[in-house]
This record gives sequence, C-alpha cells and structure tokens, in this order.
Amino acid sequence: MITVHAEQLSVIKRSISLSKGEEVCGLFLGSGLLPNSVMVTKVVPTSNVAKRERHKRFEIDPVIRLQLERDTRNLPIGIVGHYHTHPGGEAVPSEIDLASAHEPNLFWLIIGTSGDTMKDIKAWSIDPIKGKFINLELSII
Ligand SMILES: [Zn+2]
Repeated sequence: MITVHAEQLSVIKRSISLSKGEEVCGLFLGSGLLPNSVMVTKVVPTSNVAKRERHKRFEIDPVIRLQLERDTRNLPIGIVGHYHTHPGGEAVPSEIDLASAHEPNLFWLIIGTSGDTMKDIKAWSIDPIKGKFINLELSII
C-alpha cells in the first residue's frame, strides 16, 4: 500500500493550476520499499523537461533527482516514487508511460485531471518481467 497525505496532494494541485495543460511531475521522498508498504514524507515538484509534447509526456528534471539522491544518501528516507498528470485524461498508464518504465522499485502516481481538478488518482508499479503496470492500493490520509 502507498500512503500519501492530503497536504502533499495539495502541493501537486498548485502545480496543476499553473501548468497550462501540460503534464506536471515530481518526486516523492519517503520510507519503505515496494512491494511492501511505502509512506510518502515529502513531495518535490520538478519541471517537466520533456523536449516536446508536454501535454502527453513528462520527464522529471534529472538535476533535481540527482540532488535528492545526494541529499538523502545518509538518511532513512529516499526517493520512493514519482507522479505525473494526464491533463483531461484518466489515471491509467499510457503507452508512452509503459515505454519509459524501467524502475520496479519506484511507484508511479498518475493523476487524471479536468481543468484544475484532480478527478482520479491511482498508484502503479511496473512488473518488468510481464512488461506491464500493476495497480497498487493507495491510501490518502
Ligand atoms: Zn502518463
């Protein structure tokens, strides 16, 4: 199970309201390791650095990711997952998502939006052997 606090989602909601229809993305710091329970302790929004079609693609800023890995090296928390939105879409992984999923230890939070509203939120992980996403239990507290 993935546990996320409602206040952490409001950080994402703020990014959505500034996104102009592009996918927004970022990283989650927390504790626990898949397939066991994961608890998110912090949301770190990053720029979507995809070079094109940012309304249907995302790429997390690698500089921020590296910095977080460095900052948490000696801490009991680390990068546990990431999130992105599907503007006007469902919280289901796209073909593009499947093609870029290579890290089975990170969970994916996908948020289907309608305007500034988060209408659907689902957590996923990639099964690298079957080559498909698995829906994870999500608890918003
Ligand atoms: Zn996607």
